[in-house]
Amino acid sequence: MPQPKPPLLKLPPELLLEVARYIPTDAIISLKLTHRTLNTAFPSLPLLLQKQPLSECSRFAIERLLCPPDPDTKRCFVCRKRYPAYMFSSTKSPVCAPPSHRSTPSTEIVDLPSFFCAWHVGRLVRIVRTESGGRNEWVSDVKRMCVHLGCIQGWEKCGCGCECESCGVVVVRTYTRYLNNERECKGFTFWRKVGGGAREGIEGSRGELRVREECVDGVRSTLDFPVRYERTVKIVESKPLRDNTRSVDAVSIGWWLFSSVCGLVAIMLAEIRSLWKLAREIPI
Ligand SMILES: [Zn+2]
Ligand SMILES: [Zn+2]
Ligand SMILES: [Zn+2]
Ligand SMILES: [Zn+2]
Repeated sequence: MPQPKPPLLKLPPELLLEVARYIPTDAIISLKLTHRTLNTAFPSLPLLLQKQPLSECSRFAIERLLCPPDPDTKRCFVCRKRYPAYMFSSTKSPVCAPPSHRSTPSTEIVDLPSFFCAWHVGRLVRIVRTESGGRNEWVSDVKRMCVHLGCIQGWEKCGCGCECESCGVVVVRTYTRYLNNERECKGFTFWRKVGGGAREGIEGSRGELRVREECVDGVRSTLDFPVRYERTVKIVESKPLRDNTRSVDAVSIGWWLFSSVCGLVAIMLAEIRSLWKLAREIPI
């Protein structure tokens, strides 16, 4: 069945040009890459660059959108470096144990957002000290992460200080260790216990997520903890970036911007409509 035409594509070119005045250059390029009609309606890249000076973030976003597709490498949104695609798996992280022979090699130990390289798994983890006899466990929940620096909202103040419209936030799964003593958690490694009575529905086939900790209590020893999944208020996620090919990248970023632009257009149309009504009410 043919998909209905999105409302944005039905707008006359003059109105699209008007919309373009309110959104940043990288958003326009992203929209241009989503559809032929938008590509012709919006101004060309050289014209856009003449009008708006680029921030570092929008320069990075444009570079990523226009870079030729390469299935073998990806560019990390935190360190902005290009790595082989396999470096975007948590199994390559120093804090994750390589998957056991019983699981498939692609099994992720912890969940990483797209375009987030294995070097930053530590950003998804925090240790919260509690009083003696207090909470002592590993829990996991979902949080929002600033795409600019990779900081978790609610954990730390985002230090990027940038108010650009290129970065935005993504929803990520995070891991917290509540620690009530000085002996445990001197070091930790995430691992998956395959076939060991997995409890969570989504975790079933991957095995149970656990953490092996190094402890120092006179002698060195290890402890093994389960990770409890906390119920979280549902966070609505923008369509995730799935692949590094230009089209998918552009389309998914486009989708994200698309919804914001559609909101903007709706506001503008409402404005125009109310002005029109007002104009008709004024006696000539
Ligand atoms: Zn990175
Ligand atoms: Zn930022
Ligand atoms: Zn930030
Ligand atoms: Zn930014």
